[in-house]
Parts: sequence; structure tokens; C-alpha cells
Amino acid sequence: MTELISIEAARERVLDAVTRLGDEAVALDEALGRVLAEEVTSPIAVPPFDSSAMDGFAVVAGPGGELEVVGEARAGRPWVGTLVAGSAVRISTGAVVPEGADAVVPVERTAAVKGGGSGDAVCVDPALRGECRNDRVSVPESRPGQNVRRAGDDIPIDAVVLRTGAQIGPAELGVAASVGRATLLCSQRPLVHVLVTGDELTEPGAALAPGGIYSSNSYALAALVERGGGTVAMRRTVPDDLQSTRAELGRALDEADVVIVSGGVSVGPHDHVKPALVELGVEERFWGVSLRPGKPTWFGTRGRTLAFGLPGNPVSAMVTFQLFARPALAALQGAAPEARRATARLEEPIARNPHREQAIRVRLHQSENGLVARTTTGAQGSHVLTSMLNADGLAMIAPGPGEAEAGERVEVELL
Ligand code: AMP
Ligand code: MG
Repeated sequence: MTELISIEAARERVLDAVTRLGDEAVALDEALGRVLAEEVTSPIAVPPFDSSAMDGFAVVAGPGGELEVVGEARAGRPWVGTLVAGSAVRISTGAVVPEGADAVVPVERTAAVKGGGSGDAVCVDPALRGECRNDRVSVPESRPGQNVRRAGDDIPIDAVVLRTGAQIGPAELGVAASVGRATLLCSQRPLVHVLVTGDELTEPGAALAPGGIYSSNSYALAALVERGGGTVAMRRTVPDDLQSTRAELGRALDEADVVIVSGGVSVGPHDHVKPALVELGVEERFWGVSLRPGKPTWFGTRGRTLAFGLPGNPVSAMVTFQLFARPALAALQGAAPEARRATARLEEPIARNPHREQAIRVRLHQSENGLVARTTTGAQGSHVLTSMLNADGLAMIAPGPGEAEAGERVEVELL
């Protein structure tokens, strides 16, 4: 670690090393959270036909009066015919507005005319007989277009509805379905191997031996991978010896798009990650970031495979994942840049670190004058994992003398 690289420069090196993964067709009900790899245009108009926005009567717009009810149009069951002035068709919300009709009078504004006409039922559905026994109805004045949803009101034919790089959420799924798409072309999910190193690491559920600790990184990092759109193909604990480290990393590099390894990346006698990665032909892209927590972060590549050597301390591991690995997962999927940054005013002063930028876990709240960062997630040591609980973001505090003052505006990396 000769000279520390800035966070920005480190992130740039990561993104420079990314080659977008391929695409695959994904069924709609599997597509939540995926990144779209195509522009979706609509082959149909939505709604596909002029439809009624109300339950009522379809009419030819004009002055009020008594009309003959000549049929019924229900959702999915159109009335076949052409409506002429002087007549009306009983209509349900979502039903096709019959040819000739150009307005719908809501049922609340109409009155049945008793004893008029032949008395024959005109309902399609016999269950509604009682309600439409009359075949004449009195309607008020109506104007063209009233309560009619025009074909294409939501989406005109051939319109672009979703863009390449969009992340698919519930609304995107709904819109894709509304234009009839059963599958979407999505970027492949990055295949990620998560390795944690350390002789002290114990699986939750097992008893702790003297000197043992539970491995939190395995779980926190795997969850971050899933959140970032990756698939965790393997999660493994590696003992602190060069041979095992090399064997496990070798297998991970052969199979994964991204290898995330935590711990063992420093320069102690039992830190084998860097030498193993280098022996395996991984080319170092940076080592050591001007960041606190997270200085001992290593990044390298072998072909298209990315390898992140993250610090073992649990907070450092999560912070460096957020700052470097998460953008890589997004870029591998061709995701449009996310708005993951905000500016906020500090509620309390924060002592600066003379040399390194700090990532302070903060809670955010909205005030009249914009976002405010509250540093109430507790002690900020890199081993204090509870400081990640309820953190909304990482307030980035530039290095230097003195402190960042209360009221100062800082960048916040949103979690
Ligand atoms: P290292 O980077 O291997 O020197 O580890 C730094 C600190 O992080 C040590 O206190 C380790 O015990 C701790 N640590 C390493 N890996 C994990 C892990 N998977 N879960 C929790 N703590 C860890
Ligand atoms: Mg270790």
C-alpha cells in the first residue's frame, strides 16, 4: 500500500474493468429486480379500444331525454351493433363503447322509465334481469367524450414504455404485462462467490471455541450481493493458510463473474489473500483506499472476472461493498446510473480524519430546508456492526484538519 487512491478514482477503476454480461429472456414473474436489456415498445394501444370509465349508459352525445335501451355492453363482452340517436346501451366500466356512441352517462344520473316499451329484458346476463327490466331510460344532457377512455389514452401504439437499463419494479412489471409481454430480455445476473477468511470464524448455530467469533460477513455480504442483483453461487469460509486460500480462490475465479473475499487481505503473516490472488493470475487494479473505514481494500481482474478483497472488519466490509462492489454489479447488468447520492446538512459536527475520507453511518430526515443527517447510529468503529442498523446512508466527510461543522452540506451515499 504505497499511496492510497481516492474513493472516486477507485470506483472509476472498478467501472473501467466491467464488461456488461449477456442477456436472457426472463418470464415476467421472475423479472422483479432485474435490469432490462431491451427497449420495450407497445404493439397495441392501451386501452385497446374506447372504453367506458363508468357504469351507466352509452349514448350519442346530445340533449337530455328518454332513450330506448337496446342492449348491454359488459367488460369483455361487447354489444354488437351501431348505436343511433334516441337509443342507449347499458354499459359497465371497462366495456367497449359501442360504435355510434360517444358518451357515457353514469347510472346515478339516469332514471328508469317505468312501464315504457315492450318490457323485454335487454340484459346479456340473466342475473341482472331485475335491474334492467325497463327498456327506457331518462338521461341528462351529455357531451362528446364524456366518461369515455380513448383507445391509447395510457399507451399509444408503438410507444416506448420501458427503456434499456431500467430496473424492473412492480410498476415496470405491470406496464410490461399491460402491453402483452410475457417475457422480457434482461441482463444476466452476475454470478458471485463470497469467501470469508479467518481461523476464528464460526458458523452461527455452532458453539464458539476460545478466540472464535461468528462470521457476520458471510451473511451481510451475501445479502448485499442479492440486493445488488447478483446471484450468490457459493459462500464459503476459508482458513488462514495459503494453500486453502489459493484453492478456494482458484475455484471461485474459474466459476464466478465476481469474487468477493473478506479478511486476510492485509499484510500480516496470516493474510494470504493478496499473494494467492496474484499467484492465480489476478492483476491488481488498486490496493488501499483513502477511506475510513475501509482502507485495506484490494481490487483486481482476471479476464472479465472481478475480484474484490474487502477488509475483514464487518463495517469496513459492508461499506467497501457499497462503495465499490455494488456499482460493479449494477454496471455488469448495464443498469442505468442510479440516483444513489444526495446532499444533506450535518446536524452535529464530525471530527475530520486528517488523511482519509470518512464514511459515517447516518440517519436522514427531511426538514423544511432539505435533508438533514443525524449521526445517531452510535459509535463508528469499524468493528461496531450495530452502527449499520437503521443507517440510511454514508455521509462522506472529506479529510483535513478540525471538524466538519454542524450545518455543513455533505454528500451522502444512500444505502
Ligand atoms: P482481517 O482483515 O482478516 O485482519 O480481519 C479484521 C477483523 O475482522 C478481525 O477482527 C476479524 O476477526 C474480523 N473478521 C474477519 N472476517 C470476519 C467475518 N467474516 N465476520 C466477522 N468478522 C470478521
Ligand atoms: Mg483474518
